[in-house]
Amino acid sequence: MATPTTIRPTVPAELGTITHWIDNKPYEGLSARWGEVTDPALGRATHRVAFADEALVETAVAAATRASATWRNSSLSIRSRIFFTFRGLLEKHRREVAELLTREHGKVLSDAMGEVQRGIEVVEFACGLPQLLKGEFSENVSAEVDSYSIRQPLGVVAGITPFNFPAMVPMWMYPLAIACGNTFILKPSEKDPSASVFCAKLFAEAGLPEGVFNVVHGDKVAVDAILSHPGIAAVSFVGSTPVARHIYEEGTKAGKRVQALGGAKNHMVVLPDADLDLAADSAVNAAYGSTGQRCMAISVLVAVGDVADRLLPKIRERIRKLNVAPGLDAGAEMGPLTTRDQYNRTHSYIDQGLAAGAELLEDGRDIKPPGGENGFFVGPCLFDRVTNEMSIYQDEIFGPVLSVVRAASYDEAMDLITKNPYANGVALFTNDGGAARRFQNEVPVGMVGINVPIPVPMAYYSFGGWKQSLFGDAHVHGREGVNFYTRGKVITARWPDPHHRGVNLGFPQMK
Ligand code: NAD
Repeated sequence: MATPTTIRPTVPAELGTITHWIDNKPYEGLSARWGEVTDPALGRATHRVAFADEALVETAVAAATRASATWRNSSLSIRSRIFFTFRGLLEKHRREVAELLTREHGKVLSDAMGEVQRGIEVVEFACGLPQLLKGEFSENVSAEVDSYSIRQPLGVVAGITPFNFPAMVPMWMYPLAIACGNTFILKPSEKDPSASVFCAKLFAEAGLPEGVFNVVHGDKVAVDAILSHPGIAAVSFVGSTPVARHIYEEGTKAGKRVQALGGAKNHMVVLPDADLDLAADSAVNAAYGSTGQRCMAISVLVAVGDVADRLLPKIRERIRKLNVAPGLDAGAEMGPLTTRDQYNRTHSYIDQGLAAGAELLEDGRDIKPPGGENGFFVGPCLFDRVTNEMSIYQDEIFGPVLSVVRAASYDEAMDLITKNPYANGVALFTNDGGAARRFQNEVPVGMVGINVPIPVPMAYYSFGGWKQSLFGDAHVHGREGVNFYTRGKVITARWPDPHHRGVNLGFPQMK
């Protein structure tokens, strides 16, 4: 279990303050506890964020409950119109949202712009809600009897999200939940909470009624209050595996519907016939993009046969050209890690890899880019000759560390993936269609890329892993997202002519 955030006893009040958002306005509350939000390129706190206690969560649930009765019966056209306006506002303010991400998360601006774009795509999917919520109708299932199905909202639902995609991951959840007629309470990561509040303001500006979308900040205290609150019908979670398991167990124990997406250790298998320039570009993009802090990052490259000796020089050549710099610098390609904890964790795993006998071909530990001398920077690191008993292979490091495992055959590579407890994403690089087809059929992983290193599904498909990368059944967004945020009802109706056929205690017979 991840340790709850450590709160300094006194967080300086002169820092800018990030407040909750309830009933379409900032909500100060009476916070006794605060967290610090740091600019990771500078390595120092810039804001303090109010931490919710049980009473604050109660206030948010009350607001969402009040709004629920009206919102669930609002017309689909009005909902759809609000979503189209929200989409337009997000487009207009995309750069501002992206800059907030860079300042609090550290990712470079171009990557942050891409993140916002992927979030907007879910809003676009939600704009089609009248189509998504259509039911089925069967006339004359029996004489004068019709049957039809409808999907109804659950009521008040909540989302709890991680630090690595502060805009996109919340947008996997709240647009669709709200489009389906639910009201929503978001508990974003306390490490980079500003983007969520900014988007909530835009949603209010788009015409979303009070109480439909609320943001509460905090840590385990707020999360546990959400999990145990009887007024919350469902919880979506994205984060690390130990916390995902906790959310699933506690949420379902409290009778809620839960989807909890966990951590990952994604493999990229390169077969000897692959296009090695494409594989090298892809490995570098997928291992070091967002400084390795993506749940779909490639952290293990499985080089089959003689691939390693041909591929590694190409990867090393590309690594050396990467521009590691503060995320707002022009031309920056890789920013800092988000927190000091992530920085220390990454260093510790590099030490463990060296101690276990892996070969560190590229060492990014000493990097100090201009303007980021005190920031949480670690440059790209590349380990060769990693084996499956090493901690750098087994654990999710969540930093810019790529481990190369040499495998003698396709079967050995498949065996490695099959035995791994995580199963979020996987990629195969090959020019052999038969091998690719076999791979997609037999690999036990939720999202599969063929010559694509980060196979993130579009908004109209569903995103999610298998095994310890997902607790629960439903993936997020796409059709599974709609189903998660609604429940089905089937109505059987008779509107008879004025005669009837008397009492019949038997099970109805087809006529
Ligand atoms: P985390 O699990 O530490 O935190 C996620 C959320 O849970 C945050 O809002 C946090 O405040 C809360 N939380 C933390 N500890 C808690 C506790 N003990 N009890 C209750 N709530 C707690 O994750 P993170 O470090 O913010 O994010 C990185 C992790 O998220 C990585 O493991 C990454 O793989 C995973 N992730 C997975 C996906 C996916 O789709 N599977 C997507 C993005 C990130």
